[in-house]
Amino acid sequence: MSSPVLQGARRIVVKVGSSLVTNEGRGVDADAIANWSRQLAALARDGREIVMVSSGAIAEGMKRLGWTTRPKELNELQAAAAVGQMGLVQMYESKLSEQGMRSAQVLLTHADLADRERYLNARSTLLTLLAMQVIPVINENDTVVNDEIKFGDNDTLGALVANLIEADALVILTDQRGLYAADPRKQPDARFIDVATAGDPALELMAGGAGSSIGRGGMLTKILAAKRAAGSGASTVIAWGREPDVLLRLARGEAIGTALVAGTPKLAARKQWMVDHLQLRGAVVVDDGAVAKLRDEGKSLLPIGVVDVQGEFARGDVIAVRSMAGADIARGLANYASGEARLIARKASSQIEALLGYSNEPEMIHRTNLVLV
Ligand code: GLU
Repeated sequence: MSSPVLQGARRIVVKVGSSLVTNEGRGVDADAIANWSRQLAALARDGREIVMVSSGAIAEGMKRLGWTTRPKELNELQAAAAVGQMGLVQMYESKLSEQGMRSAQVLLTHADLADRERYLNARSTLLTLLAMQVIPVINENDTVVNDEIKFGDNDTLGALVANLIEADALVILTDQRGLYAADPRKQPDARFIDVATAGDPALELMAGGAGSSIGRGGMLTKILAAKRAAGSGASTVIAWGREPDVLLRLARGEAIGTALVAGTPKLAARKQWMVDHLQLRGAVVVDDGAVAKLRDEGKSLLPIGVVDVQGEFARGDVIAVRSMAGADIARGLANYASGEARLIARKASSQIEALLGYSNEPEMIHRTNLVLV
């Protein structure tokens, strides 16, 4: 049987949970990380852009601190995560570099991705790393928040990252083969779900049944993660992380685990997101040359094409792009706040640093953050 979810995917987020990474809490599993690193490197060499979202900091920290039982207090769990994160990224760094790949540590929180400016900063950093063929290894910033410690074991974070970078696919590697219609521990003949539509309410009922809970990375958080990933057009695969060559075989189109397919194509999902979720904060009026570049050539909006700035907005806010005749032609995320935009309007991008004292990006709105209306 074949599954197209990963076959055509160019940008892929791979999420691995604590029990896999740390071999059921016995400390970071060098062989497992070496094995995934080999596969990630092969995919990257094949032209795919890969982001790793990895848990395991708490489990590794507990081992380093000599704790045998997981504490109940969140502050202790957060302290363990701070200790363990060192070992976790050390292992990824060395195993990826053995494969000739560069890697980067990125620590994020849900709140970072809900804040417009931080969202844009995180997106910009990750896309820059991917363009340089660096593999980002992401974990929750457990020192400042504990959303994933309490609930998700990074399932939600994986989906938020898929949304953030508009991934084509999210792969959730876990210690189970995938999703069953009932709890296989209680019903040995439970039907295995090969493929379903992400966001189908029937899935939540199945996973919410006996034997599972929303706490710490059960099947329900994975199903909800798939639904969230589908919001930006990414399909999800839930598969057993120790399946031999699981990532390579999925990428070749083999059907492994459960595929939860996104109902909306990526571009349509992005447009919908811009239109629905974000309030319009202001506008830039652009000259006819800029209109033609955006509409006909698919280019970014540069400050040189901006002739007027309307309203007050911050970096990361959604603004309208208006022609001089007053027609709205696009919407996008502003790289510069309105005050800065007024200073750099009609100026060449090379002058931004001299005018502002720094330069975020050469564009007023980057093409990937812009939709024509
Ligand atoms: N971010 C946490 C970690 O890396 C989540 C997993 C957990 O709660 O054990 O360990």
